[in-house]
Amino acid sequence: MIGGGPAGVFAAIEAKRADANAQVLLLTDEACEPYEKPPLSKTVLTGKALPEQALVAGQGGLVAHNVVLEQTALCTAINRIKREVVTASGHSHCYDALVLATGSLVRELPQLPPGAPRVHYLRTEADARALASALRQSRQLIVVGGGLIGLEAAASATELGIKATVLEIAPRILGRVCDEETSTIIADEHRRHGVNLRTGTAIGRAQANTSDITVTAASGETLAADLVVVGAGVKPNDALATAAGLATDNGIIVDAYCRTSDPAIFAAGDAVQFPGPHGSVRLENWRHALDQGAVAGRNAAGGTEIYRTVPSFWSEQYDLYIQGVGWPQPAPGERIRRPLKGKSSLTFEIAAGVLVYAMGINAQRDLAVARRLIERRVPIDKAALADPDRPLASLLKATT
Ligand SMILES: Cc1cc2nc3c(=O)[nH]c(=O)nc-3n(C[C@H](O)[C@H](O)[C@H](O)COP(=O)(O)OP(=O)(O)OC[C@H]3O[C@@H](n4cnc5c(N)ncnc54)[C@H](O)[C@@H]3O)c2cc1C
Repeated sequence: MIGGGPAGVFAAIEAKRADANAQVLLLTDEACEPYEKPPLSKTVLTGKALPEQALVAGQGGLVAHNVVLEQTALCTAINRIKREVVTASGHSHCYDALVLATGSLVRELPQLPPGAPRVHYLRTEADARALASALRQSRQLIVVGGGLIGLEAAASATELGIKATVLEIAPRILGRVCDEETSTIIADEHRRHGVNLRTGTAIGRAQANTSDITVTAASGETLAADLVVVGAGVKPNDALATAAGLATDNGIIVDAYCRTSDPAIFAAGDAVQFPGPHGSVRLENWRHALDQGAVAGRNAAGGTEIYRTVPSFWSEQYDLYIQGVGWPQPAPGERIRRPLKGKSSLTFEIAAGVLVYAMGINAQRDLAVARRLIERRVPIDKAALADPDRPLASLLKATT
């Protein structure tokens, strides 16, 4: 297995579970036991947790699952004829089956390159530690990008008493993630906490000095801060696969069994393009990485399981717990809103008489039911869906 994220870790654990006699080795280029990424933009930034407190394999780490972990093992080549993986230190490891779980890389902005003074990106535990420490000496922060990671960073900074400004090029925040009404609720919450949300704002130049960093918007306006965090999205880390001659196209292409164009090599997680209900798709969320990794691992150990997922994601900003579950339609389907009290919200998308997607804020229980409605393709009574007095679970019961 290559890659110490949830896809690689669960591929390793499940391969070992499926075949107790198999020697399972996980190679990661990082110098630590694999850790969870979601806390990095939340509790790690606010200082409430450390990355090592949330290990992907659980408290005992990979060794507790009889998986051998090799850290600081950057894989530089795959020799498919010899079935060998080569690392930067010159070591080679033979394999009968290989799982690639190389994840994503941050999209870099040329005006704000990683490593430039006062510029931060957020992908790894090292990034999070560096940003958490810099935030402690900051009063003003500019976040470039109004997507989930950028907004979580803004919310965490705000919790630390830092004044945050978010620059988003699109007309609204979370344009790729949620419907307009949901994004309005989230935007209002940021503004209520004093965040300066600037949509429709492209950035031009950036200049770091000894005392601050200035970012000039395309409009000519200049903003200054102690730090800039760039949250401009990610791209699949598929260079190793491409160099090995595997089929790639904005991600490593796999079939429904997580198998690449080489039958001995599987792939899973953020790095992968797989067959979805509306064509080939790449997902960038934790649950997908974990579930697909598990299937890839079992299949690498000889299984023949098809990966079927109802994707989902979550985000935490202030006291908003934001979730989406299901497959949004390529062209927006029929939307139904269930009015909820306070800061809660719930929106459903219907197609061909069944629920295909649900998005909510502070509605965890309803979204758990929505997942089952989607999985079971339960015919939907639209009036019941829109009626907050009808428990969603009653829609499930109607079919059993
Ligand atoms: C800050 C942050 C917050 C997030 N919050 C959420 C959230 O709240 N909810 C949610 O659903 N998702 C969240 N995500 C997304 C989620 O964490 C990812 O979708 C998930 O980690 C993808 O898992 P993966 O195993 O495919 O790849 P990754 O987690 O990216 O792991 C890939 C691993 O492979 C290693 N690697 C890459 N190339 C090589 C090589 N050549 N040799 C050796 N090792 C290599 C990398 O160093 C890395 O350890 C968040 C992500 C980040 C960065």
